[in-house]
Amino acid sequence: MIEVELKAKMEKMEIPNFINNIIEMGFKKIAKKKEIDTYFNGIDRDFKETDEAVRIRQSINLDSQETYYNITYKGAKIDSISKTREELEIKIDDGETARKIFERLGFKPVKPITKIREIYQKEEQDIIITIDEVENVGTYVEFEKVVNDLSEKEQAINELFEILKSLNISKDKLVKTSYLGLRDNNG
Ligand code: ATP
Ligand code: CA
Ligand code: CA
Repeated sequence: MIEVELKAKMEKMEIPNFINNIIEMGFKKIAKKKEIDTYFNGIDRDFKETDEAVRIRQSINLDSQETYYNITYKGAKIDSISKTREELEIKIDDGETARKIFERLGFKPVKPITKIREIYQKEEQDIIITIDEVENVGTYVEFEKVVNDLSEKEQAINELFEILKSLNISKDKLVKTSYLGLRDNNG
């Protein structure tokens, strides 16, 4: 899978208006979650240098309290404007054991990143918008489309930029830094 993603900085006070606008565009709220992400660093290489990522995510659905975990690998970003990259993800039940497996293999966990994420979806276009309140980092929104093949990348980027334009979000609000990078630069 290829993850095509734009991340934009927002002020908390802008969010109610933002939500109204995306609902008007046909997005529907599908979930509110707490996500606790533990990233690992590589054994043979520094993922910060290679721009890869390996993580275990704990997701708690704040409506149903259902909890599950994902293991995710992300490849280096392959585009200069968006955060497009390979994304491989599986769902698992036992995050604690997964964590032990990584640690036994020598992967080093980074201090977890925690956020509250509201997820909106526009089904016809397979586009997801998330509103993220990231602990010690701030408020961000993300626009995402997952495609199967690199040949679909340009089309997806165009669709995401169209949405940005409709929402009057200027390109200088876009950030390519990860939440991890944003937090650790914040001290
Ligand atoms: P997702 O879009 O999958 O839900 P997210 O929005 O919570 O994830 P992002 O900031 O978009 O988080 O992506 C996670 C980022 O963390 C990746 O861009 C990855 O390159 C970065 N990262 C992973 N490990 C490290 C590390 N050791 N040091 C710095 N950055 C890292
Ligand atoms: Ca993201
Ligand atoms: Ca994403």
